[in-house]
Amino acid sequence: MSATTPAVLALDDFQSLLDALAERGYRVVGPTLRDRAIVYDDIDSVSDLPVGWTDEQEAGRYRAVKRADDALFGYAVGPHSWKKFLHPPVLRMWRARRDGQDVQLMPEQAPEKPFAFIGVRACELHAITIQDRVFLGGAHVDPHYRVRREGAFIVAVNCAVAGGTCFCVSMHSGPKAEAGFDLALTEIGAGGERALLIETGSDKGRELLSSLAHRAARAEEIAEGEAIVARTADSMGREMRSDGMRELLARNLEHSRWDDVAQRCLTCGNCTMVCPTCFCTSVEDSSDLAGVESSRTRRWDSCFTVDFSYIHGGSVRTSARARYRQWMTHKLATWFDQFGTSGCVGCGRCITWCPVGIDITEEVRAIRASEAR
Ligand code: SF4
Ligand code: SF4
Repeated sequence: MSATTPAVLALDDFQSLLDALAERGYRVVGPTLRDRAIVYDDIDSVSDLPVGWTDEQEAGRYRAVKRADDALFGYAVGPHSWKKFLHPPVLRMWRARRDGQDVQLMPEQAPEKPFAFIGVRACELHAITIQDRVFLGGAHVDPHYRVRREGAFIVAVNCAVAGGTCFCVSMHSGPKAEAGFDLALTEIGAGGERALLIETGSDKGRELLSSLAHRAARAEEIAEGEAIVARTADSMGREMRSDGMRELLARNLEHSRWDDVAQRCLTCGNCTMVCPTCFCTSVEDSSDLAGVESSRTRRWDSCFTVDFSYIHGGSVRTSARARYRQWMTHKLATWFDQFGTSGCVGCGRCITWCPVGIDITEEVRAIRASEAR
């Protein structure tokens, strides 16, 4: 079978894929249902997945609800993204211990096992590629990200449903996984024999697939997989015109829309926490009262906090207007200058998890519409 010919794995054999990853020493992480939300966590078996669940999403609203079938991946994305594992929210970078004049420095221990991510969506593959550029692409490589990223095995899933806030089609980042995976799955056979259509994207993926009971996909199964992705693309919850975005925002830094959005924005930072590409951190040093033990800890930070822009003499962005504008213009405009791409992959999380339902697509639309008047 050529590398580009999809294979078919019976749904009942999906457990063997999870087992094969565990046997190869991976820490297997995937979607699971917790507190009525689909989140990413360690999984051992198919029963850990949110089997038969989907999600309803709108601006400021998320509900996990039962489906009429037992689909394994019948939902969009939840509040977690894979950056939680590759770029942890709290990371102790080192500890030091003083014994008289001797100082012993203890660097952070690398994770014991490489990650295997199950159910990575196309937009999330793009987000990982963006974070690769941020953490690995410049002169200063982040060793903490690198050690987590390099050995990771990625099992992507092509989306069979679009979330109410998704707009990956607008951002050219989905819903089909095109690159950046070891294996990519499409759940097919809703009307009969249910199975997983599997594409391979790396030698690691091909090796793993060769160890599983599988067969070549039939033409109608390949066509069904393509139809599922096309249907998802046609049912995006949102759209956002992305052409000329950088120039549009650069022309409108003093637009009155920033005042309007600031009236609603709570500067809570939720949008930055759930965003799969936001990467900003702050660093804290601490020591015990005796001055014997000290450590340095890195935490996710947000451009929505006042302290984030603190420089000598005070914060640069003291208003909600300035902080929202900073976030959105970085994400959609100056990110191009810094990293050569948009910083948004259209996952919709910032819309869903904003407590007041601020919608980045609506903000762009309003500024664009004002120019057309
Ligand atoms: S846009 Fe929404 S999620 Fe983001 S800081 Fe403002 S209120 Fe919070
Ligand atoms: S800005 Fe919003 S829609 Fe875009 S990648 Fe971040 S969370 Fe997703």
